[in-house]
Amino acid sequence: LNRRLAEFGTTIFAEMSALALRTGSINLGQGFPDTDGPEEIREAAVRALRDGRGNQYPPGPGVPELRTAVAAHQRRHYGLSYDPDTEVLVTAGATEAIAAALLALLEPGDEVIALEPYYDSYAACIAMAGGTRVPVTLRPHEGAFRLDLDELRAAVTDRTRLLLLNTPHNPTGTVLTRAELTAIAELAVERDLLVVTDEVYEHLVFDPAGHIPLATFPGMRERTVTISSSGKTFSYTGWKVGWVTAAPALVTAVRSAKQYLTYVSAGPFQYAVAEALALPDGYFTAFREDMRAKRDLLADGLAEAGFDVFRPSGTYFVTTDIRPLGESDGFAFCRALPERAGIVAIPNAVFYDHREEGAPFVRFAFCKRPEVLREAAGRLKALR
Ligand code: PMP
Ligand code: GLN
Repeated sequence: LNRRLAEFGTTIFAEMSALALRTGSINLGQGFPDTDGPEEIREAAVRALRDGRGNQYPPGPGVPELRTAVAAHQRRHYGLSYDPDTEVLVTAGATEAIAAALLALLEPGDEVIALEPYYDSYAACIAMAGGTRVPVTLRPHEGAFRLDLDELRAAVTDRTRLLLLNTPHNPTGTVLTRAELTAIAELAVERDLLVVTDEVYEHLVFDPAGHIPLATFPGMRERTVTISSSGKTFSYTGWKVGWVTAAPALVTAVRSAKQYLTYVSAGPFQYAVAEALALPDGYFTAFREDMRAKRDLLADGLAEAGFDVFRPSGTYFVTTDIRPLGESDGFAFCRALPERAGIVAIPNAVFYDHREEGAPFVRFAFCKRPEVLREAAGRLKALR
C-alpha cells in the first residue's frame, strides 16, 4: 500500500460489520436498512433485467431516463433546474461521485476544507487526489454539533481549492441552517472556492425547515457540485446508483475522472432508480416519518440507558456521548460493546483528525425495524 493510503487501513464499516457477524450482535454500526425499499422499485429492476435494458454497457454519463429523472427531482423538490444532457452525471453511488469530483478538481497540494467529523471516504479520496485536508470541527452546543463560522473563515487560505460539505451530516445528524448555508455561500463567492456538497441524506431531515441544497444560494449554482444517491432515499444501498448535478464544465470534469474509474454503473438499476425518483411526494413523506419514529425509539432508549444523546435533525444516525456512563474512549467502548450488550456501534473518533475531540462520541444507526431497535434499547439498559 502506498504512502498516500497507508494511514487508512480497513474501513471501520467493514471492521464493525464483521464484528457484528462474528459475535451475533445487533448491528447498529454500518448504516444500512434491515428492510428493502419499495417493492415496485425492485420489480422495476427485475423488469429492466428481463427486458434487457442496461444489460450491456449503458452510456457513460448514465442512461437518459435516469438523468432526466434526476433533473426532474431537483426541480420538483428544490426548484433547481439542470439540463439532463450536460448537467447530470450518474455514478456508482455517492462514493464514486466524491472520488471522481476530488480527482477531477484538485491539483496536488490544494487544500480541501471538510467538516470534522467527516465521512471516512473524504479523507481517503482527498489523499488519493494528492490534496491536503483541513478539518473544521463541529462541536457540541445546546444539544447538537454546530459549525463555528469564524473557524471556517479562518481555515481558508490562498491554497484552499474547495469546501467539501455534507448536510445532513454523517455522523452527527446536524443539518446546516439557512443562516449557516448563507454564510458558507458568501465565503465561497468571496474567496472564489468550489464546493462539493454531499447531500445523500436530503430526504432524511426531521426539522420543518427541511433540506436546503447549497446550490440554491446566490452565486452557488455555478461553483457547486451536488452529490446524492439512491441508496439512502430508497433503501437499496446495495445498488450503488448515485449522481452529480452541477454546471456543464464541472460535470464534464467529474465525468473525465469517472470514465476511468468505473466508466459507468450497473445498467438495470439505473432504470429502476429513474422510476423511484418519480415516486409521488407521499413516498418521501412516509419514508421520513417512518425514520423519525425510529430515531425517537432509539434516541429514547439510549437516553434511558444513560447516554447523552444528540437527537439528530437529519440522517439515520444518532451520536451519543458516553461520559455519563463513566467511559471516555469510544474505541474501547465499541470494541467491548458486543460482549457487554450484544450491540455494534461506531466510534466517532474514526471520523476525526483531532482524535481526542471525537474520543467520547459513539454513533448508532437507527435504520432498523422497530422490534430490533426495542431489543437493542433493552440490551443497552444493561450498561447502567
Ligand atoms: N456520503 C455519506 C455522508 C454517506 O453516509 C454515505 C453512505 N453511507 C455515502 C456518501 C456513500 O453513498 P453510496 O452508498 O451511494 O456510495
Ligand atoms: N455510509 C454508511 C455509514 O456511514 C456506510 C457506507 C459504507 O459502508 N461505506 O455507515
